[in-house]
Amino acid sequence: MSPACKKCGSGESVKNGIVKGKQRYRCRKCGCNFRAGDGRTNERVAAKKAMCILLYSMAKGSYQVAFSNTLNAKRQNEHDVASK
Ligand SMILES: [Zn+2]
Repeated sequence: MSPACKKCGSGESVKNGIVKGKQRYRCRKCGCNFRAGDGRTNERVAAKKAMCILLYSMAKGSYQVAFSNTLNAKRQNEHDVASK
C-alpha cells in the first residue's frame, strides 16, 4: 500500500524516483511530491483525521447519549438507596 500524501492525506500516491536514498512518491490527487519517512506531516494528518472522527461522533449525538446514560444510572442508584 502506498503511504498517505503529506499534503491532502490521500492514499493514491505513486512511486516517483529515489531522492537522497529515500523513496519519493507523487500524489495522484493533488500532485505534490513527498518522501517516505518524513513523520512530521504524518502526525498532522493523523490529528486531522482524529478531529474529523471526533466532530463526526459529536454530530451523531453519541456524546449526548453517553451523558444521558450516566444520568439515568445516577437516578437508578438514588432510587435504590431511597427504597431501602
Ligand atoms: Zn495529495
